[in-house]
Amino acid sequence: MTDSVYQDYPPALNPAQKEFLVKTVKDWATQNGLQVRPAPAFVSKESDPHGVLATNAPVTLFPSPFPRTCFEEAKALQTVYNKLYAAITCNEGWIGKIMEDLIDVDDFVSNLWKVHLAVQKEGYAQTLSLGLFRSDYMAHTPSDSATPELKQVEFNTISSSFGGLSSRVASLHSELLDSPPGHPIAYPPHSLLRPGAIPENTAVEVLSAGLARAHAAYGASKSQPQLPICILFVVQEGERNIFDQLALSRQLTKVHKIPTFRILSSEILNHTTIPDSNPSRPLIYTPPHASTTQFEVTTVYLRAFYAPTDYKSSREWEARTHLERSAAIKCPSVLNQLSGSKIVQQVLATPTGPDHLKSFLSDTNTDDSTISRLRATFAPQYDLSSTGKGRDLALNPSTAENHVLKPQREGGGNNIYKSAIPDFLNSIPENEWKRWILMELIHPPKAAKNVALRSDGEVLSGGVIGELGIYGTILWDQKDGKVHHNEQGGWLMRTKAEGVNEGGVATGFSSLDSVVLF
Ligand code: ADP
Ligand code: MG
Repeated sequence: MTDSVYQDYPPALNPAQKEFLVKTVKDWATQNGLQVRPAPAFVSKESDPHGVLATNAPVTLFPSPFPRTCFEEAKALQTVYNKLYAAITCNEGWIGKIMEDLIDVDDFVSNLWKVHLAVQKEGYAQTLSLGLFRSDYMAHTPSDSATPELKQVEFNTISSSFGGLSSRVASLHSELLDSPPGHPIAYPPHSLLRPGAIPENTAVEVLSAGLARAHAAYGASKSQPQLPICILFVVQEGERNIFDQLALSRQLTKVHKIPTFRILSSEILNHTTIPDSNPSRPLIYTPPHASTTQFEVTTVYLRAFYAPTDYKSSREWEARTHLERSAAIKCPSVLNQLSGSKIVQQVLATPTGPDHLKSFLSDTNTDDSTISRLRATFAPQYDLSSTGKGRDLALNPSTAENHVLKPQREGGGNNIYKSAIPDFLNSIPENEWKRWILMELIHPPKAAKNVALRSDGEVLSGGVIGELGIYGTILWDQKDGKVHHNEQGGWLMRTKAEGVNEGGVATGFSSLDSVVLF
């Protein structure tokens, strides 16, 4: 059934049509900021010594079909997911218990936990916490005749990226779609490619509104005399996905009229201070390009600090602690980052033992049927303890084939897939197995196809796998769990070639896409 939708999609392009569409997409991407900085393998430092070049983000030529029921369900559940992760973050004891085992074997998790403990010992100066989340899914379609089910790949609580660029892709595809047949930039005719078929994508508006809401909730400057207030984006050195981030900061400055700055994670201790004399611990930022003006930071938005490579030395850990102990609202706090660990998702998905989902959501006025719908998005996940089922499934080559092994990491390129799992586990000490969780594979429709224009200009056609992300923002008080703002809106479709296990755009595995619902 689902198969037939994909059978003749996308419409075939003759060589002249393909060339024309590729050129149109390339030019549109440059004209509209659907861009990334080129990878060094594509444009070397010698050919671009001043770093002036940008190229199109990897993007599909066509939107991808996606089941409407799954799309609507993902959107409907997002504010519930927001509340769930806020509630988890408020339960420091529960997170601590889960982290206990990991701390012995995972330095990264251990160091994050230490940051939290150090700040907790001193006392947090800020109880408000901001989440800019993205819940990622696939339309699970194990057989061609099966009704697709919405299954979650992972839930992101830190640096949830691509909201800026994904809304651009929706505009690109909509423009192509809305043009009448024969129009210079139109698609060849196809029943799925109807004007208006791409849903609205409000990712930029919604993510920026979340940051603006936190900024407003911070209130007046806590400095004496008062300082102008701002939002600070903490970013990685050499970030190639900068235009995605700039889409959000521009919205903040242009629409919300909030001064917004970018700072490298390695520069935090050089350009920000917390005055010892002020018990409120405001975070003061002195822009290096305007050093006579100081700003007080209301909200720290992390687009860095999610990977061990972001902490090159103890100085970066010191910087993370410095931010955490400040009065600025963190997006996310260390605890909120840890709540998004794969192991938390595995514990939530475990059908036996305490009903964590119910206990977290029961305080948030969520009814049982909504909790069941949320639970239905979980794919089976296991720990690798000696008593659990996960160990057998992972070590047996025939069952490993239907699973993925995930460590407590973000950002792509970290997982072990299918038949590689048993050998991998046997190659590491058994006491390190608890760093990993095992997850059953989700099976998206087999017949899906698309054409992708990569950032180096290569055009690839063939079978694809789509992953849908839904954005949500929530502002809550860690002290009493009170939610001040909870919104969903905006989405991301990423498409990777069939047969490729990993799915990140930044890591070069997939392309940005949009959806036509069926
Ligand atoms: P990361 O934090 O590195 O993004 P993910 O859990 O998103 O980790 O895994 C990376 C990629 O691996 C996903 O984008 C997806 O393509 C693939 N993947 C992860 N889990 C599954 C799963 N259960 N079934 C199928 N593919 C998966
Ligand atoms: Mg992911």
